[in-house]
Amino acid sequence: MTKEIPVHWVCQACRQAPAAEDVRDDDPVEPYRLCHECADRLRYRALRPIEWFNLAALHGWAKFLLHDDFYDQDGRACQPDVDDDVIDEKHAPTLEMCARSLERLIDFCVTRWHLGKEEFEAFRPFPIGTVLAAIEHRADAGNRQVWETMVQLCANVVGSPAAPWVRAQFNRAWRDVSLFIWAEAAAKCLPAPEGLHKTIDALQVVHGRDLEKQMSALSWFRAAAVLDWIEAHLPPQDVAASWGQLASLSDLHWSRVQSWLASGRPLSLVALDALASCIPRQGQARILTILDPKLKGCGDRSVIGHALRIYEAEDSAPRVATKCSFIIQHLDKLRAE
Ligand SMILES: [Zn+2]
Repeated sequence: MTKEIPVHWVCQACRQAPAAEDVRDDDPVEPYRLCHECADRLRYRALRPIEWFNLAALHGWAKFLLHDDFYDQDGRACQPDVDDDVIDEKHAPTLEMCARSLERLIDFCVTRWHLGKEEFEAFRPFPIGTVLAAIEHRADAGNRQVWETMVQLCANVVGSPAAPWVRAQFNRAWRDVSLFIWAEAAAKCLPAPEGLHKTIDALQVVHGRDLEKQMSALSWFRAAAVLDWIEAHLPPQDVAASWGQLASLSDLHWSRVQSWLASGRPLSLVALDALASCIPRQGQARILTILDPKLKGCGDRSVIGHALRIYEAEDSAPRVATKCSFIIQHLDKLRAE
């Protein structure tokens, strides 16, 4: 009779051999529990795809020994330190294969660099209550990256039934500097304007460059109230482009842009960056690709060009000239409605 090995004694990578050692090289707090063969392959950046997948599903892919310099998103080793004839065998499972089981589907999502529509739609056959329970369980047991993936799933798969859980996650989000991730779930799961108010309250104690990084959390709410917040919190000088990016995502109307241009710096700089953010281009921030900002209340783009030429004549800063010329050149691509 074969003696069954308890789950926590099985190698986390191959999930076949008994675990024989804890590898703490990149994370002493949450070691990998592995058989000797998988431990060697992990250290040589030469895991087989299914082994990488199994480890990334538990630990996330952002840890040093699993990260995207060493493996592609399908778990293929990019720069192994050993020759391994079977390295391309033992493929990682595809989304289609994982979609047959809720647990495996969640595994798959944790291994992705980015989640999208395809992954979210794969949850449809599962009852929302079951999905939420599985997400909560995985978030409780997981590290920061696993938790962040679960919050994203709540936002895009569960919605309002996740409200109590999302509300309860605020403290962890704040502690782990993951306000941006939490705010998407707050925008999609909590009744408005609860999430927006909570995020604005949290940002009250953040200043300077930290504020410019963390305020992107407000992008998810798509709310004109954020434009008022920008007016109240904008620094008088050294205005980063992130202010304009946030404005473009916050129900921005042409009338507000006009008033900002008329008021001069620093708000005029935000107006220019906001207009530029409405022009899709390579290399732009991912949030712009996801949320696809559009300027409201200005169907005739030639009006924008005319206003920019007038503004440009009054403000000779090189940044203004560069930005105005970019917007005018790409006016036909500027998203407006
Ligand atoms: Zn193993």
